Amino acid sequence: MASQLLEATGMVESLRVAELRSLLSTMGKDKKGLKKDLLQRATELLQNNFHPELFSAIQELYDRRHSTGNTNSRRSQVITMPATVGVEADYPKKSCSPVHKPEVHMIKLPFCQTLETIVAPKPLVATYTSTQQIDLITFSLTTKQWSRIKNCPSKDGVKPVQVVLRICYTESIGVENDQYPPNVGVLVNGYNCPVQVHYSSNKKGLEPSQPCRPIDLTPFMKAFTDNRVAITWENFGKFYSVAVYLVKVYSSADLLAQLQENGVESVESCKQKVCEKLQCNPENEIATTGLQVSLICPLAKMRMSDPCRAQTCAHMQCFDAAFYLQMNERKPSWTCPVCHKPALFDTLQIDGLLSGILQRADEAVKEIEYLSNGSWRAVGKEKVCSTTKDLSSLSHKNNPLLQDIVDLTQFYSDSDDDREAMETEEIVWAHVKIERVRFSKSSMHK
Ligand SMILES: [Zn+2]
Ligand SMILES: [Zn+2]
Repeated sequence: MASQLLEATGMVESLRVAELRSLLSTMGKDKKGLKKDLLQRATELLQNNFHPELFSAIQELYDRRHSTGNTNSRRSQVITMPATVGVEADYPKKSCSPVHKPEVHMIKLPFCQTLETIVAPKPLVATYTSTQQIDLITFSLTTKQWSRIKNCPSKDGVKPVQVVLRICYTESIGVENDQYPPNVGVLVNGYNCPVQVHYSSNKKGLEPSQPCRPIDLTPFMKAFTDNRVAITWENFGKFYSVAVYLVKVYSSADLLAQLQENGVESVESCKQKVCEKLQCNPENEIATTGLQVSLICPLAKMRMSDPCRAQTCAHMQCFDAAFYLQMNERKPSWTCPVCHKPALFDTLQIDGLLSGILQRADEAVKEIEYLSNGSWRAVGKEKVCSTTKDLSSLSHKNNPLLQDIVDLTQFYSDSDDDREAMETEEIVWAHVKIERVRFSKSSMHK
């Protein structure tokens, strides 16, 4: 009953003058006065004499308006209305028309991908002077949306197609992570909908900690009629927006499969990047050294299976795709563990060249080095023999690069300590600098 009263109060707040008058006269009350008087009278009525008929009268008024103004089906009718050329320009522009505004979305969530927007982001309106607030949204599902939910088979006990509610800061729509307001609560069609929240302390006015995951409304949805969602929260001066989406939920295993299917960077493209890094230019003697890449994932500290990085990353070093996706499934940050810049799911690519190397390289090999002739070799204790093998396949005698490699090998076999130091290094470019020094040292050996 308390939740119904709260919901009814929220609905009354959003009624227009004509609707308030109609409500008051239905209930046998005075319907004269300004909007604030009408509102006050209706609120008093609610608080003093709340009964089911009053609730359904309010609900009817509220639903009638929202079913002719806000739903998506109506919006698409607006779009498909004949756009008679020349006529529209003569009409004054209607400020409420959503047609000309580009539709705004909250940020893309790889684990919860939007199929359709049911209610586009709209501000949560704080109407009360106290901190406790309530705002309502109403929408109905189309037959097509309903059948998409019903017809998608459950996977591991989870319905993959869901209706979700998302909340974020109004100023960060499309830019930042979702954020629930303090003491958030959600009522769907009168039922208390569970919201996963964590608070770092019980301080008043504290917002729930990240991540604030989309709230699954699906179990409470009704077909072929309006669904009413009441959001309760405490107002501490921040502005939030809510939206409802039809989504498909993916697991980290699903995303890994997608990446393996569509996100593999070709061997040629990877080789070209290596070449650019090594400045493959026969005249550039010093810089054309090796480029070292660890086969151990910097996150998992284990040998990688699916080496990947973001297209936006400037380094060749990879991290393990499966581990990275699992980590972001637990807590999304989408930050590259190598360069600490954003590495969004859409920009991830599996390194085709390194994948092949991982399949061929001995299990004991922890690190490899790309060479400026386009080949690679293992770095580490086994390095000397594999290097000799690699070199035997090259027959240039006067190639300065080759001489460098030979010198490098000699130098390595001379100094165990330096080799150890090499193995523990993780950042690729640091090696290049170290090697420059080594080259000059080894030249002095000659
Ligand atoms: Zn128009
Ligand atoms: Zn990076």
